[in-house]
Order: sequence, then C-alpha cells, then structure tokens
Amino acid sequence: MTLTAQETAPTTTDGREVLLEVQDLKVEFNIRGGVIKAVDGLTFDIKRGQTVGIIGESGCGKSVTARAILRMVPKPGRITGGRILYYRRPRHPKPGQPQDLQVIDLTTVDPDGELIRQIRGGEIAMIFQEPMSSLTPVYTAGTHINEAVSLHRLLPLKKLGDQMAETIMAYRHVTREEAREIAVQMLRRVGIPKPEQRVDSYPHQLSGGQRQRVMIAIALSTEPSMLIADEPTTALDVSIEAQILDIMRELQRTANMAIMFITHNLGVIASMAEEIVVMYMGKQVERAKVVDLFYNPKHPYTKALLQSVPRLGPKTGQRLASIEGMVPDPLNLPTGCVFHPRCPAFMPGKCDKIVPRWNQVGENHWARCLLYEE
Ligand code: SF4
Repeated sequence: MTLTAQETAPTTTDGREVLLEVQDLKVEFNIRGGVIKAVDGLTFDIKRGQTVGIIGESGCGKSVTARAILRMVPKPGRITGGRILYYRRPRHPKPGQPQDLQVIDLTTVDPDGELIRQIRGGEIAMIFQEPMSSLTPVYTAGTHINEAVSLHRLLPLKKLGDQMAETIMAYRHVTREEAREIAVQMLRRVGIPKPEQRVDSYPHQLSGGQRQRVMIAIALSTEPSMLIADEPTTALDVSIEAQILDIMRELQRTANMAIMFITHNLGVIASMAEEIVVMYMGKQVERAKVVDLFYNPKHPYTKALLQSVPRLGPKTGQRLASIEGMVPDPLNLPTGCVFHPRCPAFMPGKCDKIVPRWNQVGENHWARCLLYEE
C-alpha cells in the first residue's frame, strides 16, 4: 500500500480540492473464453462538492469502475493497472493528532482490510441498483441504518478549549437511542411515510421504491465525503426521484459531498452533474463539462446517445432514434476504434485499423476519435 502525507491535494483553477483521482484504470475479467477488458484506461477526477456523471450503455464498465473504487470487484475480475488516488482528510481528528492529508492509492489497499472498511460506507458510500440484494432480509430498516451510523459516525463530546479561534473537539460513538433517532430522521428525509413505524419494518414489508429509499438513507446517514450513486433512482417514480435528487443536492451543498452519478438517464444527469464521462466498451470516449457535452458533443457515440433520448411532442408515427447495430462481443472486440461497426462517421481503412488517441478538442473537453487527429 502506498501511503504518503502531503500538505495539499491538487486543486483546480477555481481553488477546489481534488478528492479522488482515477488514473489509467484497468479492470479485467479472466474467464474461460478469454479476457474481458471491463475498464480499459479510464482517467478522471472528482473534486470535493462536485458531481461527475458516468454515462453509457449497459455493460460499458460504469458499475465495475464504482466497484473498483471501493475494492469490491467480484471475482474473477481484478484491477490490472492504473491508480485510484484518494485524498483523505481525517473527519474526526483527535486533539493533538496531525490533520495531514493522506494520499491513498486504493488499488493497493487490502480489499478485506481495516483501512478499506473505514473508507467504504463511511467516507465513500454507495447506493446500488438492486436494493433487495443489498439489504439483509432479517434486519429492519432501522438496524441497517444503526449499523452504518454506529460504525462510521461520531458526535462531538465537548469543547476542550479555544486556541486562536480554533476549537479542539473530542468525539464519541453515538448511543443506541441516538442511532435510532438518526435512523428515523434519515427515513423522514428520504420521504418514507410514518418513519417512526417504518424504522422497524423488514425489507419484505417495504415496496420497491421504499427499499431503494432505505438504501439511500443508509448511504447518506454516515455523511460521506463522496457518494457513488449507481442508477439510484431507476426504481422510483418521478416525484420520489425528484425528492431524492434534491436530498443529494442539499447534502452536497451543506456537507460539500462529492457525487459520482452513474446512469443511462441523460435527463437526470443533465440536472445533476457538472462534468460527464462517456464510456463505451470499457473505454472513456468523451469527457466534458455538462453544457459542452449536451450542446457541443464531439464523439459520434455521444451524439448518437443524445439523439436517442425521447423528447416530448414528436410528430405522430415518428420513430425514436436508436444507435445502429449491436454492442460487440467483449471477447471479440472490433479492431481499430471499437465503435467503428456502429459509427455513422466511419472512415474505411482508417477507423477499422487505427486505435484513436485521447484528444483534447476544447477547453476541458476530450474525445477518443480519429476525426480529431491529424
Ligand atoms: Fe467513428 Fe472513426 Fe471516430 Fe471511431 S474513430 S468514433 S469509427 S469516426
């Protein structure tokens, strides 16, 4: 494990501190038929308080990326290259303890060790797509939240003294009664009706939407520095979806929480994210600020994705645009540009032979396409 202390994390021109830096990440699944490159050379970063959206079709590597950050890639998958740097600040420093920034390369951390258990769920929380498989059937909603809160959340004990306007605080674990109170508050915040009663409900006694909201309450109850939300509102109706997105925005504002938002819902991502990473077959094909990506997309795959978004008021009988062709077999990827068999801008003899580089196509805007190479 690489662990170093630094004075500062990398910052952007607007002075914001980087929280997580993914550098040339590679994740592979070695299966009987060959090797699947689920994530192949992904690079991006997330600043404190920022939302970065990851979009792309199913199987493009979005969820595997999230699991790699938390060291939860299921076997036979494994990280085979790159780094995931987590710039960690102590959330509850003890009096006298140095408050240095730690830089932790998460790819080198023991996936079953104490360090990742502190980070996972407490500092970087995740909302999964499938609430039923993530909730334990014999635990109530309240028990799930209590467990997360008791493990990861501390409360101020008392003021030990004021030194030059700097207050030194000591912390203690929450009591059972406080944990239950926090659980009720969190269920209320995510819009569960009668939270004082629902806190004692088991997963099978809740509707699909309520289970998803319990998952969200668990993730947010520890006040994480970063939330990974993997299709968090897919099972919810639009009014509850709007409510959940509002809660995330509020936490982001009040707690400076970063969000990595994984979705194929481009409408949701447009309203949530500041920057967007587009993935196709494990590769990052475009990255840009949200406005640039929606109003000035460069990569033909991004353009096709945007054209396939249903719009209100199409003429009667008008067909929805869709991306031509099929997603290729991951064990038998096309040569050259992996998108070439489906690309409307395909250049024969070029796109099927040359692997495109990662080209800067504007300010904070990159695309992997031969249209932007000499
Ligand atoms: Fe299309 Fe060629 Fe660009 Fe690939 S490199 S996206 S095939 S134009």
